[in-house]
Amino acid sequence: MMVANPDSDAGDVTYVALGEDYADIRDGVRRVCADYPAEYWRDKDEESEYPHEFVDAMTQAGYLGALIPEEYGGAGLPIRAASVILEEIHASGCSAAACHAQMYIMGTVLRHGSEAQKRAYLPGIATGELRLQAFGVSEPTTGTDTTQLKTRAVRQGDHYVVNGQKIWTSRALQSDLMLLLARTTPADEVKKRTEGLSTFIVDLRESVGNGLEIQPIPTMVNHNTNQVFFDDLKVPAENLIGEEGSGFRYILDGMNAERVLIAAEAVGDGRWFIDKSVSYANERVVFGAPIGKNQGIQFPIAKAYAQIQAAEMMVRKAAALFDDGKPCGAEANMAKMLASEATWEAAETCMQTYGGFAFAKEYDVERKWRECRLFKTAPISTNLILAFVAQHVLGLPRSY
Ligand SMILES: Cc1cc2nc3c(=O)[nH]c(=O)nc-3n(C[C@H](O)[C@H](O)[C@H](O)COP(=O)(O)OP(=O)(O)OC[C@H]3O[C@@H](n4cnc5c(N)ncnc54)[C@H](O)[C@@H]3O)c2cc1C
Repeated sequence: MMVANPDSDAGDVTYVALGEDYADIRDGVRRVCADYPAEYWRDKDEESEYPHEFVDAMTQAGYLGALIPEEYGGAGLPIRAASVILEEIHASGCSAAACHAQMYIMGTVLRHGSEAQKRAYLPGIATGELRLQAFGVSEPTTGTDTTQLKTRAVRQGDHYVVNGQKIWTSRALQSDLMLLLARTTPADEVKKRTEGLSTFIVDLRESVGNGLEIQPIPTMVNHNTNQVFFDDLKVPAENLIGEEGSGFRYILDGMNAERVLIAAEAVGDGRWFIDKSVSYANERVVFGAPIGKNQGIQFPIAKAYAQIQAAEMMVRKAAALFDDGKPCGAEANMAKMLASEATWEAAETCMQTYGGFAFAKEYDVERKWRECRLFKTAPISTNLILAFVAQHVLGLPRSY
């Protein structure tokens, strides 16, 4: 929540309250997570399996519907509460990667969908009956330059015909629905390259084998990510979200929520690494003393702790701005960048603290280390955040 400082005469200067801590939600999330110990995640990682049981438990407990308004069957909570849920999942040693996307993807339907679409999808997403976990934006040949994407959707009567390819579409095999961004007007026929892109809900249950093919990509983390091929896929025109041609704006809207939530997960992972490091540094005795007695071991842990705390402050600020309906692009991006870097430092510190044992899978450090590396690359890589801050906040020349 934003409050004006009554003692300030500095125009629009505002102060951001720390935000609620939601102790009850944290306790509740931790209780669910307690049923999914490290061995569960280790096995899923080994087998590259989707954690259905965990996702079902989180859905049944109502946490994945946190941001869906009560009138559509959700909890109607602010993003601050959702970020606490995801932070706590990660701090407990679990992973929200399998299910976090529905929190921010459904925001596009909520903010820009028709009443009929909201009634058709949101209650089912809240109960878990429908999974909207797949987000088809990235393409192999265009990378971060999203407006150049090549997947085309052409209107033909009461449906669109989609052709093209997406990459890194996570959870497509475990999802019922996918939010798709495709070009509806050729790039050379629009004034601005951000125009002419549209968002659609694709029903994967009907589409797989009927113009849509999903191919899993083996990766260094268990992220259930895929390539998706569209070959004359028919999507009913009623599945278009909002206005044709405005899809890029709708997607950008959701990206601030995505950044805040992913940053909260990174903070949670950072807390997990710090806890593991402190415990091990206190227990492991070498040269007749706990290794944590050495400043070479304790200083990196203390530094990583301080960096996680600082990143958490930026997550709170971004969430407060978002919940107040204020512009938060810079803060959401900076929160994601700072949290991903702080967590990576914590992960590296934990690897070093554990010495050789860090490499043994049974300690989970190497798995969490692999997993948290993704935050520096996806959903947006650090360089692109720095370019955003340089150009849009600091007024430096555009580099692209
Ligand atoms: C496991 C995983 C899951 C994912 N899940 C999804 C998903 O569900 N849906 C989805 O749509 N996408 C998903 N992604 C894609 C992800 O968002 C992109 O990989 C990420 O945004 C980076 O884009 P890119 O890989 O195309 O990199 P590129 O755009 O090719 O960039 C490569 C490198 O060059 C740098 N670079 C590029 N342009 C500039 C510039 N102008 N200035 C400075 N540096 C630059 C980048 O920072 C990066 O380091 C996922 C990716 C991974 C790895």
